[in-house]
Amino acid sequence: MSHTVEILSVGTELLLGNIANTDAQMLSQGLSELGLNVFWHTVVGDNPRRAREAVSLAKKRADIIITTGGLGPTCDDLTKNVLAEAFGKKLVFDEGSAERIRSYFQRTGRPMTDNNLQQAMLPEGCTILENDWGTAPGCAFEAEGVHVIMLPGPPSECRPMFQYRAKPYLLSLSEGVIASHTIKLFGIGESAMEARLREQMNTMSNPTLAPYAKEGECELRVTAKAASSEEAQSLLQPTVAQVRRLFGDKVYGVDVPSLEYVVIEGMKTKDLTLGVAESCTGGLMAKRLTDIPGASQAFKGGIVSYTNEIKQNVLGIPPHMLERYGAVSQEVAAAMAEGARRVLSCDVALAATGTAGPDRDDWNNEVGTMFVAISTLRGTHVRPLHLGSRPMRERLRTQTASHAFDLARRYLSGLDFEN
Ligand code: ATP
Ligand code: MG
Repeated sequence: MSHTVEILSVGTELLLGNIANTDAQMLSQGLSELGLNVFWHTVVGDNPRRAREAVSLAKKRADIIITTGGLGPTCDDLTKNVLAEAFGKKLVFDEGSAERIRSYFQRTGRPMTDNNLQQAMLPEGCTILENDWGTAPGCAFEAEGVHVIMLPGPPSECRPMFQYRAKPYLLSLSEGVIASHTIKLFGIGESAMEARLREQMNTMSNPTLAPYAKEGECELRVTAKAASSEEAQSLLQPTVAQVRRLFGDKVYGVDVPSLEYVVIEGMKTKDLTLGVAESCTGGLMAKRLTDIPGASQAFKGGIVSYTNEIKQNVLGIPPHMLERYGAVSQEVAAAMAEGARRVLSCDVALAATGTAGPDRDDWNNEVGTMFVAISTLRGTHVRPLHLGSRPMRERLRTQTASHAFDLARRYLSGLDFEN
């Protein structure tokens, strides 16, 4: 049977807009990886009557209810009371949980008040989900054909509680194993990707295909459920191969963490060194590359040549070039990459220059006009970008850096720079 899930987030702060419901987002991502269908997100305030109404609706339509928040010690923390009542269960004192709460306070040196022990009141007969990241334990039980899982609200607790407590519980509900692969794409928008897959996504049930978009990149998560992991893999492989065929060299990797990771690993494998010259990205390229453990084996360093003075004096860009074309130009981008390759004496150099806004630059370039360049043994290539003026400065920089990394990974794989 395929399960249907409702996430019920409890907290007035969510309704007031003080905080975003990041717990529900995190849970939805995790649940879809498990192949579970999340059909509803419900948010209700710390109000017992409306919480009861929300629960009575949820138990009619979902067979797994996962709650977040309202497990704490204060009187507005009503989740356990309402859920226990809705399923005709009493709350009973659990000495084991009380002991854990006492020792948590001892360990952290914080004073404990009596109402903290309120958190040790749990629905009778439930599975206790021990909370090693905070005080309030979570719990899970099955009643009336519905599985109920309650998780604490603070994201720093909710995430590990899902990962290490709820997930194993959910996996025990389904027989067999769940396996997934993540296909990473660059250079295609989420809507274009979805449009090409929509029909298929709607008809697939095992494996399932779920798209994600972030920071100008797309991901496709393929998830299969089977009796053994070999069987799951054999269900996954044809879909992975098919997606690769469909999107060609827009796929930059499967189960890899990031573009910059692919670049560093590729450089290491080919025993090449890398350097960067950055204007508009202001060091972001170097930052992202050095986020990768072991980057030093390939990445030599970078120059943040923000002013024309540094472009001339450090990278050796001729003043007449800057005067004639302006710093945000194809010519200067190419010269920056070539200059970096020379000055840093590396095999491959990347460069970025552009107008990150909020205003047009001195040359009246529109915000979002960017040039990224790569210089290698085999010559120099520049990719002009028009990223649009709407994205914020930070997004423009991130996307620009990603485009530069895309040039590098294409070079490393022997692909055309543009397609
Ligand atoms: P506590 O023991 O800290 O009281 P709790 O389980 O009772 O935890 P809440 O009191 O509902 O949880 O929320 C505690 C904090 O967790 C909130 O102030 C908020 O910062 C955060 N939080 C709660 N729900 C969510 C949510 N759905 N998404 C993101 N953050 C949340
Ligand atoms: Mg609370």
